[in-house]
Amino acid sequence: MPSASPSTAAAVQMMIGGEHVDAAEGQTFDVVNPATSEVIAHAPLGGAEDVNRAVQAATKAFEDPKGWATWSAAKRGRAMAKFAGLVREHLEDLAQLESRNVGKPISGARGEALAVSFVFDYYAGAANKLFGETIPVSKPGLDFTLREPIGVCGLIVPWNFPMNMASWKLGPALAAGNTTILKPASYTPLTALRLGELALEAGIPAGVVNVITGPGGSAGAALAAHPGVGKVAFTGETTTGQEIMRLAANNVKKISLELGGKSPNIVFADADLERFAAEAPYAVFDNAGQDCCARSRIFVEASAHDRMLELFTEATRKVVVGDPSDDKTEMGSLVSQRQRERVSSYIDIGKEEGADLVYGGEAPTGDPFDAGAYWSPTIFDACRTDMRIVREEIFGPVVAIIPFEDEADAVRLANDTPYGLSGSIWSRDIGKALRVAKGVRAGVLSVNSNASVHTEAPFGGYKMSGMGRELGMHALELYTEVKNVFIDLT
Ligand code: NAD
Repeated sequence: MPSASPSTAAAVQMMIGGEHVDAAEGQTFDVVNPATSEVIAHAPLGGAEDVNRAVQAATKAFEDPKGWATWSAAKRGRAMAKFAGLVREHLEDLAQLESRNVGKPISGARGEALAVSFVFDYYAGAANKLFGETIPVSKPGLDFTLREPIGVCGLIVPWNFPMNMASWKLGPALAAGNTTILKPASYTPLTALRLGELALEAGIPAGVVNVITGPGGSAGAALAAHPGVGKVAFTGETTTGQEIMRLAANNVKKISLELGGKSPNIVFADADLERFAAEAPYAVFDNAGQDCCARSRIFVEASAHDRMLELFTEATRKVVVGDPSDDKTEMGSLVSQRQRERVSSYIDIGKEEGADLVYGGEAPTGDPFDAGAYWSPTIFDACRTDMRIVREEIFGPVVAIIPFEDEADAVRLANDTPYGLSGSIWSRDIGKALRVAKGVRAGVLSVNSNASVHTEAPFGGYKMSGMGRELGMHALELYTEVKNVFIDLT
């Protein structure tokens, strides 16, 4: 890991049972600002022993006879509303922390912190709207269901939207009365640790939100395998998700997985091409393309190809790449030098596969670019769905353009992928747009818009993009057991 002045960086601590603690073995790792390569913090290198401690704390909090799970739902909701308010109060600090840790533009990071508070607000309100059913069974009696918390939930999140992914899991888990252990990605532990502190400040009891830091292969794996954990919610790469499934099998944990994507942006010749071109760069280059929903495959009706490419390239040229701390910056750095090398290798692959590089394809140079992990927005044209740059999730600012002939062709090509997370359809013919929306095998679709994420609506993937739906009321199902009770009335 690159290191500038490690001695000046602050040491941060994990949050276990309401206490700030170091790793059991006392080791730390460097947390780096990828836009400058400076070490900005030292975080505890947690491992299996730290997971044990966190599981003990979370179990004690869950089993406390006067604890979180026994609070009235309304009281839990009030604490969560306070948590949401504290996130807003500390919005600027959280945004600065996230921007420096991920290399993302400060303007975007502010929006993300605000979105975190909205998620907590939503689940604060949802806490007392979660209830069971009465069922007309055949036997004479009363049959009803209870929705009960699962217990200790392990929440494992990635580095691209660290705060938001944490909130999507913490919100419903807490509303349903569970206790939690949050494990952020090693690159980006800082806002998760801060959220742990704010939860405590909001009056959420000690041990209900624990935050441990450390490598995925040790701390993350220990959490996914721990017999004291009843549920694992994971966001990250598909291959890691497969490993989590194996690890969670030992005690048949409940699991929910939000995994990779390679989402299509399907544009028909009758679409408003100007509007498409204005929005499409954001849909793929936002967060430097490190977005599971990135519309990294553009399928364009052949007759509109040249016009769309001209407009889209022109709009891409206007994307402001620069210092993440500058308010005007729209695209900052990638999360690490390693990620930049990965993106660079895919540029070589694309060229070797015969795709036509029409824009970008290189790291920008000069100040501030030389010090960080930057990459220019990159457009490949004349692509095919059998190319690796079209099949594999690059997780960088790279888009592949593929022409199609007609509606059926568009659906067939869009579905020619192992992934099925999101996608968009652009057409003035609403019937056609809806037929295509029904045909595309993905969990989150939009028409004449690239908006994929709504706090109130379900989010998740088909096929190898995952299982379970986060956000909205659907997410509460991921954090509850259903108990059926029959009372004999004879
Ligand atoms: P990753 O899979 O490398 O890591 C994600 C988390 O899992 C990290 O906290 C990591 O430490 C942990 N981890 C790694 N190995 C583990 C193991 N063996 N056992 C337990 N935990 C382990 O993913 P990443 O590189 O941090 O994030 C990028 C990926 O996340 C992309 O594939 C992206 O598409 C996906 N993503 C998906 C969504 C979605 O909602 N579908 C959202 C954001 C990101």
